[in-house]
This record gives sequence, structure tokens and C-alpha cells, in this order.
Amino acid sequence: MKKISRRNFMLATGAGIVAAPGIAGLIMGERGVEVDSVRSTSLWTTQAPSLPQQPRFEGERKVDLVIVGGGYTGLACAYYAKKFRPNWSVIVLESHTIGSGASSRNSGAVSAKYQGLAEKDMPQRGFDRLSRFIDAEKIDCNFGPTTLLEMLTSKEAAQAASVDPVHNKNWISAAALRERIGTGYYTGAIENTDSYTVHPAKLVIGHAQAALEVGVELFEHSPVLDIEHGKPAEISTPSGKIRADNVCIATNAYTPRLGMFKASMYPLHQYTLATRRLSNQEITAFGLDQWNLRFEEHTLPITFSLTPSGHFFIRIVLGYAGLDSSIWPDLAAARRLAAHLFEKRYPGISNIGLEHGWSGVTGHTLLGQQIAGPIGDGNIHVSVAYNGSGIMPSHNNGYLTACQITGHSDSDTQFLSGTSGQILVPSGFYRNLLLKPGLSLLAPA
Ligand SMILES: Cc1cc2nc3c(=O)[nH]c(=O)nc-3n(C[C@H](O)[C@H](O)[C@H](O)COP(=O)(O)OP(=O)(O)OC[C@H]3O[C@@H](n4cnc5c(N)ncnc54)[C@H](O)[C@@H]3O)c2cc1C
Repeated sequence: MKKISRRNFMLATGAGIVAAPGIAGLIMGERGVEVDSVRSTSLWTTQAPSLPQQPRFEGERKVDLVIVGGGYTGLACAYYAKKFRPNWSVIVLESHTIGSGASSRNSGAVSAKYQGLAEKDMPQRGFDRLSRFIDAEKIDCNFGPTTLLEMLTSKEAAQAASVDPVHNKNWISAAALRERIGTGYYTGAIENTDSYTVHPAKLVIGHAQAALEVGVELFEHSPVLDIEHGKPAEISTPSGKIRADNVCIATNAYTPRLGMFKASMYPLHQYTLATRRLSNQEITAFGLDQWNLRFEEHTLPITFSLTPSGHFFIRIVLGYAGLDSSIWPDLAAARRLAAHLFEKRYPGISNIGLEHGWSGVTGHTLLGQQIAGPIGDGNIHVSVAYNGSGIMPSHNNGYLTACQITGHSDSDTQFLSGTSGQILVPSGFYRNLLLKPGLSLLAPA
């Protein structure tokens, strides 16, 4: 049995340019895997049904499939794998509590798109799969269509969009925005009706319940510290060891802390700030009953959305804090920035109280494409780095990874192309020197 070394991993994937080492142990993140750290929760989590506490993994076991990470990706992979192979032992190891990563902290905007992929049919199939899953498992998660406003901030963009034959029928002028949603900040907006929203935390708890129902075992507070490749692979947690024929790594933005893909992906921090619950009268007065999702396209985009419970929120990208960072160093400043941006756009709404704030991390690559597919000896699979837009892709990749692992046939597995096409992110020193200040220059003012 040998550990996946940087060299073996690069040879195995044929990805000479990707200095993504294999697995933790040899090249541990500076701070390594989070053990027994406490995560604050989001507003979403306080509104979702709570999952009964799951046990900590202890002792020694031999299983068919181990999944590292209990978010949408890991839980979907576990669910489909167990459906395809009912006799398999399938377990999910989660370092904190199930769903406590990005899957319970996001903005809930779902679309039939993969970041960095021009292909349209596969994402649509992925979207339909997520939709069927929600129906089949009767997950009450407020999944449904909505109208998205693409908010414009420059005169040039407004001028171009208002005369563009594709957009002008959906064109909302600056005057109409002032009148209907009480903002003088924008130069106009484009109305888009093919968007969906979902309650993120209800969706991830629904994933966990569906996985439990088909016989998956979930373990919480069971961080994976090390994976040694081989057949079987050997996985270590603080109080246990598992030998597994197959492994799926579904740790998204936290992956570099496990010592993996440190040269090809990096975490970005986000902050969300929400109002108190608005009354129906306020929701109508602010035009939130028909335009509840609003998006500003920048290099670091801004989302505004109304939750099904009537809280209106702003979500901003804060930037890069470090390769192994899961917590933004100055949350008070993040909150002040979010409040400032909110107030500039919607002074009338921000005045009535911004009560709930939470942070989150997303996994990114320089070209904006995911890292997904088999690595090492072929019995270790990974699906991470959805570049900030991963609700549908994470569920669909969970399914496709389960297909690859169990041998279930689906030609869409061709889209799990491993690390191909990725380019190197500068090393730690240059990353700090370039990425940190570069992104903070791009941060919205
Ligand atoms: C603020 C914010 C807004 C977003 N908005 C949207 C949006 O509107 N639309 C959209 O499509 N996407 C959005 N996203 C992205 C989306 O939430 C993610 O792409 C998606 O949740 C990824 O799911 P996942 O299961 O891969 O990762 P996660 O949900 O992060 O799950 C990974 C899990 O792995 C666990 N873990 C990490 N290391 C270990 C270890 N060593 N051992 C065991 N477990 C480990 C973590 O604790 C975590 O629970 C947003 C994300 C954030 C943070």
C-alpha cells in the first residue's frame, strides 16, 4: 500500500502540468484538515428540519464505497451508488455536521448551467435529474421557477441592452426600477424568466434523508485526515480506519486543506447579509413579489434575493484569504461592506434592519472549470470546484460519479474529465502576493 504522492498522481492522471498532489499526508495543507472546529450556521439552517445527530466514525471497517464530505455532491453520490448497488456498504464521512458547508450557505439560485462549459444539453439533463430527485423523494424545499433581474450599472450596457432585439422585450428602464422597486442605483435591468430558486438547507437535509432511507450510513465529526491509495484504499479519521474498494472525494472548497489540488484550485470567501422577515405589505411595496432574484454581473458578482420566509438578502464575494482558510479573517468588516453595498442600492430596505449574516466558501479554478473524475489508480474519484455555481452541478456530478464507480452506464460521464484543461494557480507565495490584492481591487465598492 502506498500513499498517493505528487509524482504518482501526476503520472496517473497524465497531467504533468497539474501539480495537484494526491492525497493528504505527504503534502498536508499548512493548517491541514479541520478537526473539531465549530462552524456557525446560516439563516437557512435555522429554518430547515434538523437531521438526527449522526455518529462519529470509530474503529475499523472494510466497505465498498467511502465518500468524503456530506454536502450535495457527497450525499447525491451516496444515494445513487446505493440505488445502483443495494448490496454495497456505502458510508459518508463528514468533518462537521451533514450539510454544514456551502450546501447550506448558498443563495439558492438554480440554473441548467455548468460554469466554464458551453455545452447545453448535459446541464439540462442534470437540471431535470435534480428536479426528478426532489419530486421522487418528496423534498419540501421551495424549488420552483422565478424571474431573475440582471441589473446593469453602466450607461453603455443599458444602451446596448435596451436596443438589442434579444433583450429589449425584457428591458426594464432605470425609471421603471425607481418607480417599482425603489432603487435609483441602476441604469436598467433585463428580465429573465428561465431561473429557479430553492431553499438550500432544506435541499441538503432532503439529500441526507433520501440517502439514509436507501441504506447509506452517515458519520459526523469524522474528518478524513489521510487517504492511502491502493486496492483497497485506506482512509484514516481521528478515531478510525476504513479500507474501501472505492472512494469519492466531495470536499469542494475545503479540498486544498486535505492536501489535494493545491496548485489548481483555491477557495473564495463569500458573505451574506439578510433583513428581518419582511411583511407581505413591504414585499409588495419593494417589488419583491415579482422580482425576487436580482443579479449584478461583475468579476465578483453580487446577488440579491428574497427567501421563501420573507428575508431579503445580499450576497457578496469577499476574496481570497489563504489556501487553507475556511474562515474570513475579518467578519465584522465583511458585514460592514455588505451593509454598505445594500444601502447604496436599496436604502429603503436596508433601513429596516439587517439582522442575519453568515459566511461561506466556494472552490474555484483559474479557467472556471470543475475538477471531476477518477484519479490515482482509478478507484478514487473526485468532484470539486464548481466555481460558485454548483447546486445543480454538484447533484448531477454526484450521480455521474456514482455511475462511474458502480459501472452504471451513462454517456454523460464523459464530462467528468478529471484535471484536463486546468492551469496552474501560482504557488502559495505568489498566490498571496497576486490573488489577495488582485481580488480585493475587484471587490465591489
Ligand atoms: C455564499 C454562497 C452562495 C452560493 N450561491 C449559489 C447559488 O446561488 N447557486 C449555485 O448553484 N451555487 C451557489 N453556491 C455554490 C454551491 O453552494 C456549491 O457549489 C455546492 O454547495 C457544492 O456542494 P458540495 O457538496 O460539493 O460542497 P459542500 O457543501 O461545501 O460540502 C463539502 C463538505 O465536505 C466536508 N469536508 C471537508 N473536508 C473534509 C474532510 N477532510 N473530511 C470529511 N469531510 C470534509 C465539509 O465540511 C463540507 O460539509 C454558493 C456558495 C456559497 C458559499
